[in-house]
Amino acid sequence: MVYEVIVDISNTQVDKVFDYSADFDIPVGSRVKVPFGNRITEGFVTARKPSSEHQTKNIIKILDDKPVLTQEMLTLARYLNERKNLRFIDIIRLCLPAKLRGGKVKELKKAFITLKNPKLIESLSERAAAQRAVCEFLEKKGGEYQTVLNKKFGSPAVKAVIDKGIASKTWVSQNREPYRDIKIDDKEIKLTLEQRQAVDAILAKEGEYLLHGVTGSGKTEIYMRVIEEQLKRGKTAIMLVPEISLTPQMLGLFRARFGEKVALLHSGLSHGERYDEWRKLRSGQAVVALGARSAVFAPLENVGVIIIDEEHDLSYISESNPRYITHDIARFRMRYNKGRLIYGSATPSLETYKKAKEGKYQLITLRRRVNEKRLPQMDIVDMRKEILQGNMSIFSRALLKELDKTIKENSQAMLFINRRGFASFVRCRQCGYIPKCADCEVSLTLHKEDNRLKCHYCGKQYHNIEECPKCGFKHLKEGRTGTQKVVEEINKLYPEVKVLRMDNDSVQRKDSYVKILSAFAEGKAQILVGTQMIVKGHDFPNVTLVGILDADLALYFPDYRSNENTFQLITQVAGRAGRDDKEGRVILQTYNPYHYVFRYAGNYDYCGFFEKESNVRETTHFPPYSVIARLLISSEDEDKAMETTRKGYELMKELKKQNPKEIFRAQAMRAPLRRIMNKHRFQIVVWINLEGEERILPKIYEKAKTLNTRGVSAFIEINPVQMM
Ligand code: ADP
Ligand code: ZN
Repeated sequence: MVYEVIVDISNTQVDKVFDYSADFDIPVGSRVKVPFGNRITEGFVTARKPSSEHQTKNIIKILDDKPVLTQEMLTLARYLNERKNLRFIDIIRLCLPAKLRGGKVKELKKAFITLKNPKLIESLSERAAAQRAVCEFLEKKGGEYQTVLNKKFGSPAVKAVIDKGIASKTWVSQNREPYRDIKIDDKEIKLTLEQRQAVDAILAKEGEYLLHGVTGSGKTEIYMRVIEEQLKRGKTAIMLVPEISLTPQMLGLFRARFGEKVALLHSGLSHGERYDEWRKLRSGQAVVALGARSAVFAPLENVGVIIIDEEHDLSYISESNPRYITHDIARFRMRYNKGRLIYGSATPSLETYKKAKEGKYQLITLRRRVNEKRLPQMDIVDMRKEILQGNMSIFSRALLKELDKTIKENSQAMLFINRRGFASFVRCRQCGYIPKCADCEVSLTLHKEDNRLKCHYCGKQYHNIEECPKCGFKHLKEGRTGTQKVVEEINKLYPEVKVLRMDNDSVQRKDSYVKILSAFAEGKAQILVGTQMIVKGHDFPNVTLVGILDADLALYFPDYRSNENTFQLITQVAGRAGRDDKEGRVILQTYNPYHYVFRYAGNYDYCGFFEKESNVRETTHFPPYSVIARLLISSEDEDKAMETTRKGYELMKELKKQNPKEIFRAQAMRAPLRRIMNKHRFQIVVWINLEGEERILPKIYEKAKTLNTRGVSAFIEINPVQMM
């Protein structure tokens, strides 16, 4: 028999199948050892066939009892390779825990003690009370881990019982259990009418669903019911959440409902833990995979439902190799398995909502919160007025008044400050004016090296401004306030009040993130100051005030999604206030109080926002009304990079000439970050209309491949999250 094998080497030149033979039977999907060139490497059997037209070498051996890859995964890898231009081997690597590749897998074994010779118990002396107790315990329970017994009865007693031959020790394989201590009681929940209808609709037929529900509308309960039902039908399930929402609460909830059937996959696990969780899923011991983005590759078979919670979250887009969008993978798997794909969000991405409106996904709307509570009132404060009236502090008077009240009432407050990316923009402190690109409606970024304002999409450059062109004010401001500054100010104002801070600096370690949130939940501090990290997941019943200190910051990020992201952030932050009985309040500070994002966000009007923003995107030709392909070229050699860019630009212009309807714009320029890690960077941006996407993208991939030469890399991003 001849076997097609893909070798475990990440290199575009060898990213194809090679024929090998073997005179023993090898199932497709197996991990094998093969000779390759003049070395021995690992590979994966992707197919079998009777003969080969090439001369073949022999497969040395099979490495696992059961194939590590399912037929589904192989088909997925092929699909991504052909359609999304990803390397076959990179996909396979995503499907497997790192520990498995390279073959060095250590199983964790633990000593388990059972009674061997109960008759001998009587021979124990009267004084050996501890030893008797061990035996009695073992008689009752049948057996126990040695570590547990040692803790209970002391290790000398346990050892004595074993040494005397009364009990015996066996080594059992023991899964490392991440977060094993987390326990949450499962509440008995009766579904609301809206929830019931949603569950029924989803269970009724396979397909794609958008579950659009305000925060607190009980989406998680719907997910769990659908999963339960699919498990009963003999299927498996994948539940995806943004990494940051994978809180102990979420885990506890799933553990309480599904017990040992849940396996957890996320970046905080050790290699060993990751391997254990993977193996539970592959062996069928666990049938629910809970995790962040990469869990979409969970090695489950017969998947009945995949849920993408907070589907708008940008963490679902992988921005480094291999570049993939979680939604695409989930869609493939659900079509393959004839399952249900659920996108859930209070603020769906424009793209997803558009598809739902067009009927491509079934739209299910949850209008009410389960507890029937209204969303907190949001007050929009005009910071320009504060300045005009002499208040130069970072807190408006309205926010200070509410903070006072919150502190006196012994409630809690969260102060949110947005930080995203490196870009610095310029803003007039009097009227709030921000310079934008005339063509793209995207805010310009100040480049200090040449003191120019630049558009990160079309590359257009403008002179930096000394005074505001709208109102003539001379105090233009760049930069921003950090979380640390906010904490300092609070400490000055309220020296006795305890404050916690949470941002990337304060949570270097995975568990400090949980620690800070838990401390706040337990009331160990009255104020929590933080970045977007504080906005998700956690329920803080005692929080009555949410302050958004500079709502504009996300707005001026040089990204066509910045309005959308701002809307999503505000909605999410606001959802933190007043989760319990107490009335909540949100104070939003801005220099642009009349911006439509704030108007719609303040009224929790997603649909209104969607209509307006869709309109803007359509007229400026941005996604979801177009597709932007960005070809990033980098090299240590600036001349080479420039030369390749020129060549690439010629290719794109030619392509545009041949497809004038589909490609309507192509630009070449230096990348916003001109140099990273000693590499000079250039970009070519191509705008394609929706009808042309299917036909044009493969051509662009093809052309880009020819640009990859020695010392120069060229790769493509579709609708990149950041133009850096
Ligand atoms: P969402 O994800 O839509 O923001 P959650 O799923 O977090 O909402 O639900 C909010 C709260 O309501 C949770 O504490 C949950 O346990 C509770 N809940 C959900 N459904 C019900 C129900 N039918 N009856 C009572 N409480 C519910
Ligand atoms: Zn522009």
